[in-house]
Amino acid sequence: MKINTKCLHAGYTPKNGEPRVLPITQSTTFKYESSEEMGKLFDLEAEGYFYTRLQNPTNDAVAAKIAALEGGVAAVLTSSGQAASFYSVFNICHAGDHVVASAAIYGGTFNLFSVTMKKLGIDFTFVNPDSTEEELNAAFKENTKVVFAETLSNPSLNILDIELFANVAHAHGVPLIVDNTFPTPINCRPFEFGADIVTHSTTKYMDGHATQVGGVIVDSGNFDWTASDKYPGLTTPDESYHGVIYTERFGKGAYITKCVTQLMRDLGSIPSPHNAFLLNLGLETLFLRVPRHCENALKVAKFLEANENVTWVNYPGLEGNKYYSLAQKYMPDGTSGVVSFGIKGGREAATRFMDSLKLATIATHVADCRTCVLHPASTTHRQLTSQQLEEAGVAEDLIRFSVGLEDADDIIADIAQAIEASQM
Ligand code: PLP
Repeated sequence: MKINTKCLHAGYTPKNGEPRVLPITQSTTFKYESSEEMGKLFDLEAEGYFYTRLQNPTNDAVAAKIAALEGGVAAVLTSSGQAASFYSVFNICHAGDHVVASAAIYGGTFNLFSVTMKKLGIDFTFVNPDSTEEELNAAFKENTKVVFAETLSNPSLNILDIELFANVAHAHGVPLIVDNTFPTPINCRPFEFGADIVTHSTTKYMDGHATQVGGVIVDSGNFDWTASDKYPGLTTPDESYHGVIYTERFGKGAYITKCVTQLMRDLGSIPSPHNAFLLNLGLETLFLRVPRHCENALKVAKFLEANENVTWVNYPGLEGNKYYSLAQKYMPDGTSGVVSFGIKGGREAATRFMDSLKLATIATHVADCRTCVLHPASTTHRQLTSQQLEEAGVAEDLIRFSVGLEDADDIIADIAQAIEASQM
């Protein structure tokens, strides 16, 4: 199936007489005839549903759809993108381990890594997303277990050289995890370039209508966990699951199975089946919405570029953009609907601009079908110091403009009047 068809059909194939639309299995529990059967499920000796914190048919169908879109072998839904970022790393790291992460990542992820996971004893080195091979190599330590980056960073819009990061990670015997939220698998499929695990905030384009907060982790199944003794959690007996060795019992499904049976069991963070259903509705039209977001965003970026009151515009689809050639390689059909820019008058003018918008709304959100706008330095990234802001590529005057699906002429007219008002 082509990716458009997968958006509609992957993950759920009704049998004769079954509901055409993915049903919401809004049930915490599942009935069995004997306790012996139930016991086998607990021992991972039989497959089946028994408690929604571990598995649920609606959630599993949507996870399977996203795995198909990314070209992975297995996936698990989480209750937020934050949970996906946390679980993806924590599934293979523990106290005393080290992670190499790009400095250009979502502010919430940066905080999760540099504050909360640090408290759990996991050490992070943040690297320039444009690092050379030598610079990247220099960040590795004996105890490095994984590399983490965003394919298209929020909000700085850096495009990751996925092949370079994957090659360096692999040379050090560790996997590359990438957050692919902004491009979505419609525009970029990181497994094709060597990434091993993909995460998403499904709250964004995948949902697209701002109805649910969610996340997903997808495994390519390509990383060989048994090639070293770095991942004992996957390659040695799990005493909390009767001595199961995930790589032996589940092969390419080892990473996701451990994530479900250990992390979901102990920490929770599952989405409600109703939220998974809403996410599925969004996924069904993802292939239609993403190209339109990109088309509108390019028109907006070109308009901004030509406006005398705009001091800079960052959109990787513009030919003069620093990431234009990487965009052509990794996301040839478009990057995302997010454009960032600054206007004359800096931070104060940015505030006046935002307050003057009539169609676009100020919202702590991005990647919605309705155009929305945010000033990251005073919101999503406000916990970062000036130096951290600079390292993350977030200028203090940066306006993050998430171009929606309205008619591009209406969006541009709104921007034009707000820029004028901002200069008064
Ligand atoms: N990753 C990226 C790239 C994001 O933009 C966000 C949220 O904005 C997250 C992860 C966190 O996702 P959530 O808000 O669904 O927890």
